[in-house]
Amino acid sequence: MRPLVVALTGGIGSGKSTVCRRLRELGVTVIDADELSREVVRPGQPALAEISRRFGSAVVNGAGELRRAELRRIVFADPAARRDLEGIIHPRIQERVRHAIAACTDPYLVLCVPLLLETDAYSNDIDRIVVVDCAPETQRSRVMARDNLTAAEVDAIMRTQAARALRLQRADDVIENEGEMAEVLPQVDRLHERLLRIARA
Ligand code: ATP
Repeated sequence: MRPLVVALTGGIGSGKSTVCRRLRELGVTVIDADELSREVVRPGQPALAEISRRFGSAVVNGAGELRRAELRRIVFADPAARRDLEGIIHPRIQERVRHAIAACTDPYLVLCVPLLLETDAYSNDIDRIVVVDCAPETQRSRVMARDNLTAAEVDAIMRTQAARALRLQRADDVIENEGEMAEVLPQVDRLHERLLRIARA
């Protein structure tokens, strides 16, 4: 029996990692697409060799590790390069996601995908969507504090992401993360109970 697959998404700094940390504390299997995107380009991985062939050996350092800043600089300026990079990385992330879903024997699992609604890579794999939501101003101030970025830098990232209204429209469940940490964690606990009931029904 396949588990209920619950996608979790939200804009930058909305609180996805915070929610996922709590879910893991509750014993929930969380597959994190960002973590997998780092795993597939570790030294020795075939994707890294492909990236080096496509973008030149300057994107790999002496220790055989990806030079992320260098690669980011290349694809930032070149949409075709970005598509090529995505073509190398995305299928391998998806393969790992599907593998993890197939291996999971829990009633449900959570698949955290920051850009879920900006791509339709997982539309056939997921049963429900949970959105972590807060006001754009809150996202901005939390990310400025966390990543030491300016408001303009955070806004530029937010402009590349789905609008808040679209995310909320697509959500089956919403975790409201405008308030204190102490307010968000009980919502996660209640969501966990609800998802267990739905998965077992
Ligand atoms: P990203 O999309 O950048 O990965 P995220 O959605 O995973 O971000 P978090 O890293 O969980 O977001 O939260 C962003 C920042 O805001 C973190 O520094 C986190 O500690 C803080 N934060 C999250 N929720 C709250 C809250 N309710 N109150 C105060 N700070 C919070």
